[in-house]
Amino acid sequence: MRYSELSDMYQELEDNSSRLRKTEILSNFLKKLNGGESIYLLQGKAFPDYSEKEFGISERLCIKALSKASGIVGDRIIDDWKKIGDLGEVAEKVIGKKKQNTLFSKSLSVRKVLDNLRKLPELEGKGTIGRKLSLISELLTSASGKEAKYIIRTLIGDLRIGVASGTIRDAIVQTYSNSDEKKEVSGIVQEAYDKTNDFALIFEKMRKGIDELKKIQLNPGHPIKLMLALKADNLEDGFKRVGRPAAFEYKYDGFRMLINKDKKGKVKIFTRRLDNVTNQFPDVAGYIRDHIKADSFIIDSEAIGYDPKSLKYRPFEAISQRIKRKHNIEKLVKELPIEVNVFDILYLNGKSLIGEPFEKRTKIMRDLIKPYKHKIRCSHQLITSDEKKAEKFYKDALKDNQEGLMIKNLHSRYVPGARVGHMLKLKPAENELDLVITGGEYGKGKRAGILSSFTLSCRDEGKFLEIGKASTGLKEKEELGLSFKELNDRLRRFIVKESGRGAVIKPKIIVTIIYQNIQRSPTYKSGFALRFPRIVRLRDDKGLNDVASLKEISDDYVRHELKVHY
Ligand code: AMP
Repeated sequence: MRYSELSDMYQELEDNSSRLRKTEILSNFLKKLNGGESIYLLQGKAFPDYSEKEFGISERLCIKALSKASGIVGDRIIDDWKKIGDLGEVAEKVIGKKKQNTLFSKSLSVRKVLDNLRKLPELEGKGTIGRKLSLISELLTSASGKEAKYIIRTLIGDLRIGVASGTIRDAIVQTYSNSDEKKEVSGIVQEAYDKTNDFALIFEKMRKGIDELKKIQLNPGHPIKLMLALKADNLEDGFKRVGRPAAFEYKYDGFRMLINKDKKGKVKIFTRRLDNVTNQFPDVAGYIRDHIKADSFIIDSEAIGYDPKSLKYRPFEAISQRIKRKHNIEKLVKELPIEVNVFDILYLNGKSLIGEPFEKRTKIMRDLIKPYKHKIRCSHQLITSDEKKAEKFYKDALKDNQEGLMIKNLHSRYVPGARVGHMLKLKPAENELDLVITGGEYGKGKRAGILSSFTLSCRDEGKFLEIGKASTGLKEKEELGLSFKELNDRLRRFIVKESGRGAVIKPKIIVTIIYQNIQRSPTYKSGFALRFPRIVRLRDDKGLNDVASLKEISDDYVRHELKVHY
């Protein structure tokens, strides 16, 4: 297939905001498709979702490649970028102009784009930058303006076609089922995706027939997306939403860890963003060897830090280095020890458990794990229908310096990657949200040249919509693990456009904020405004998928409004 066909479709998707229309466009595209791999390109990638490979291409390198392919000097491209804001559109202009002057050039195939993109993450060592540059400019040289726009946007991870995984699922369903079967087929496709994170594989199987799709199994070692939580207002609300009796568990203040062991005995550990952190946690591999006797499994857990001398638990910030640091691991293991609190099991000895009810999973998990304090144990749990008992348990959790409680539905299956309300979180600081910074404003006087007010955005189907502005609020270095200046330095790397004192920032840095309340507001694109938001935490452990969605915020708002009026 020609890459021009794909980029025409990208354009169509970009121009049509209706999800139904997008599904139709994608479905027509799938009908023409021979191999499934092009589906990765629809997701802005060259590999399946579970792959950890990244292109590792900066905007600067794209500008160099554009300059090389077009003969236009870099500074002029940068000027355009500052004016236009979107590097993709800059590429369209620059390469489009060149094309008008070139009579002959090869046309670009999807295969060639995929091949070159796939080589990028493999490059290492001396001369890497030069080789990356050649791979990109080779594509740009054969590209039309429109093709260049989407190549550049793919490289910088900002495709902007508004296609989330749910739309790809619906398009596959639409292509391969009639209207009576749609609901059932949709469930089967979703389950296959939950297990594999690989739409190309699903497409290939689906072409052979739905029975092939049903055979797909979980595969320990391939990370799967984790089930996510919604907020509960209080215990009563929790019971109402997950049913009685419910399972209450301590909400530990650490970071999520998905621990896999495959049947060859290989252990792999992933964070909630699906980053592979196995090398950083040799201690956890040891815990597993000693305390879980099974051939293969996938368990879901929260790792919390403790002080090696006093053995007291420590807040997340104190151990966040353990995720990032790649050197001197053994020393760090001793200085910042962690305890793994296991709270779910997804797979055991060749069998997927995600379809089983939580009640059964938690029992299997508790029978399997030999608990050992300060190494590995099962989450502290209470199953009850009694609100008084739950209340006491909640107080105990807070007294033990944990964040609050998780409230879980005993009868529900594990739903990867989704906030479906099968598990809720209850914390005292209820007015808290995870948002992404998408803009900033330079201060005046002493703060001149320093970004000191930040635009915060929520998520809406792959887009980010403004919902408020927070000024400094950020606590001091000791508490946050990052000074205000360091936050500034980080944000500056992602500035897309500046005008006057304002800056547009690529959505990369996720923060937890607390706020007083939410109001409807015409000022921001989200339609809501936060009153008095304050940044309290940087969330390196979270990805864009964890940013609060407009739907959650609006549901929360409606629930609170109802409470005020009735
Ligand atoms: P939040 O990060 O505020 O959305 O809260 C959900 C997170 O709490 C999960 O992603 C886990 O990392 C963490 N967590 C801590 N303890 C538990 C538990 N017992 N069960 C499930 N999640 C937990």
